[in-house]
Amino acid sequence: MAQADIALIGLAVMGQNLILNMNDHGFVVCAFNRTVSKVRDFLANEAKGTKVIGAQSLEEMVSKLKKPRRVILLVKAGQAVDDFIQKLVPLLDSGDIIIDGGNSEYRDTTRRCKDLKAKGLLFVGSGVSGGEDGARHGPSLMPGGHKEAWPHIKAIFQGIAAKVGSGEPCCDWVGEEGSGHFVKMVHNGIEYGDMQLICEAYQLMRDVLGMEHDAMAKAFEEWNKTELDSFLIEITADILKFRDADGQHLLPKIRDSAGQKGTGKWTAISALEYGVPVTLIGEAVFARCLSSLKDERVQASRKLKGPQKRPFEGDKKSFLEDIRKALYASKIISYAQGFMLLRQAATEFKWSLNYGGIALMWRGGCIIRSAFLGKIKDAFDRNPELQNLLLDDFFKTAMEDCQESWRRTVSTGVQMGIPMPCFTTALSFYDGYRHEMLPANLIQAQRDYFGAHTYELLARPGQFIHTNWTGHG
Ligand code: NAP
Repeated sequence: MAQADIALIGLAVMGQNLILNMNDHGFVVCAFNRTVSKVRDFLANEAKGTKVIGAQSLEEMVSKLKKPRRVILLVKAGQAVDDFIQKLVPLLDSGDIIIDGGNSEYRDTTRRCKDLKAKGLLFVGSGVSGGEDGARHGPSLMPGGHKEAWPHIKAIFQGIAAKVGSGEPCCDWVGEEGSGHFVKMVHNGIEYGDMQLICEAYQLMRDVLGMEHDAMAKAFEEWNKTELDSFLIEITADILKFRDADGQHLLPKIRDSAGQKGTGKWTAISALEYGVPVTLIGEAVFARCLSSLKDERVQASRKLKGPQKRPFEGDKKSFLEDIRKALYASKIISYAQGFMLLRQAATEFKWSLNYGGIALMWRGGCIIRSAFLGKIKDAFDRNPELQNLLLDDFFKTAMEDCQESWRRTVSTGVQMGIPMPCFTTALSFYDGYRHEMLPANLIQAQRDYFGAHTYELLARPGQFIHTNWTGHG
């Protein structure tokens, strides 16, 4: 009998938790998994006492679904998704909906949208963020694809998503094709940037101001009451004060070599591909790469000299505030760059993206959740056509307010030999973006000199000319 509102395939941690979340919100879910024995285990353990039902085959699963049928896949990204789609297609009817909630590459999602449309089925690729805890208690959900599917899944998606403010769900329709997965990818890139910015603040506190761990924890706790109020600042305070079983702080004992799964790299690659200067995420990825050269750095640290070590001579309290403002200003740049990438992708793929909605989707439930994203939402509400976040009055004023502190932080750090790839690239971007005239006129002249690539005169736009720079024939 058709009794289930939705089916979910993939009973690993994410799938199980999303099912239990949907169950909590009153939806009847039918569970299925490639290794079918896991369905029985799940029903007998984690899902015991719930309304969740199971199926022993895809046919049985489909027979238990109300129409239009809704099936969410939460399986390993890649071939597993295509395999399940292929098996589902003959079992489903026109207008039924397949949703991929895994970490799929956005181009795969676009391809699947096209293939399934030709078969009369609706396809949604949804970014799911917030890890297993988010999946269980309220993730950030970023669905995109065939919009005709949205009215049929909206209540479930917005029901289970994280809520902010007066109960606004961190889930809205993102846009066409693979846009939901593209937005999730940019979210992950921004996460890399946010983490690296916090690390740079931590190094400045530690190595310039000589602060102890508990003092740094207190500073982050204070910062969490300001514009920087966010999950990552909050957990940084917790991490800094955490003591090991021996009573010592744990953080300084951890090997300073950062891992990565590649999602930040994908954002940086897309930025290069579409020609968008998403410099901060790029630097954040490279900072992890540099950190992973631990053995080489140990060797280099014995040979390469930096500036003479000397104690900080300024006012420590005011420099700490400078660092906070440098972090805030750099963070604004990172999000401005992230939204520039989204805007370019929208142009490239003819997507009509819901920018304010995207900010709201990231406002809660995910790793980059922060009060600040509410300000981004406000900026797009004020002007949905906003070309760049930096041009919104709120952010323009924030940059003006932070600017002097930001410059002092960067110049002090540079003089004291502190690596700050993200603080510095953010400032360079700001200075580049606000310059009417950049030195690229010289690049054009050089290109024309050695390669006859031609150039355009400011006074005669649209006309490309070549000069014989050496006077030789
Ligand atoms: P996972 O380890 O990525 O995948 C395990 C699930 O995929 C199992 O149900 C497994 O079935 C199935 N599977 C693997 N290979 C398969 C194949 N060739 N054919 C059919 N099924 C196959 O699980 P997860 O960590 O719960 O993540 C699920 C998805 O959500 C992934 O795309 C992941 O990237 C994404 N995601 C994860 C997180 C997270 O924090 N873990 C956060 C956001 C998004 P069997 O039981 O039969 O092996």
